[in-house]
Amino acid sequence: MDRETANLDEREASLSKILIVEDNEMLQEILSERLGFRGFDVVIARDGERALAITPQEKPDLILMDMSLPILDGWETTRRLKANPDTQHIPIIALTAHSLSGDREKSLAAGCDDYEAKPVNFARLLKKMSTFLKG
Ligand code: MN
Repeated sequence: MDRETANLDEREASLSKILIVEDNEMLQEILSERLGFRGFDVVIARDGERALAITPQEKPDLILMDMSLPILDGWETTRRLKANPDTQHIPIIALTAHSLSGDREKSLAAGCDDYEAKPVNFARLLKKMSTFLKG
């Protein structure tokens, strides 16, 4: 990455708070480390119920949503966030394990703004995130 691009990313990131909703601790750690390193302010929720509880207070600029979650899954969590006038404007990128099983369509139907299949390609994910964080 050239210097100009790096600076641009940094400026963008310094303004942005990202909520990671993920129950897999390894992925939680990898994502929060990599986003934190780039200057993002990172908040973590390990299940859907927790995500619903903290989103109105934390007011994240974007949510990365695992779909397979304990207590309340990502599909239902997304539906509820998108049904709430206080949180429906927050972009949600779905993270799901199966790229070929119709999860993309299901994610968009649940109200997700975009979709990224696991294993997460970090560069591609950042690019998707930046389209929502620029405006
Ligand atoms: Mn999961």
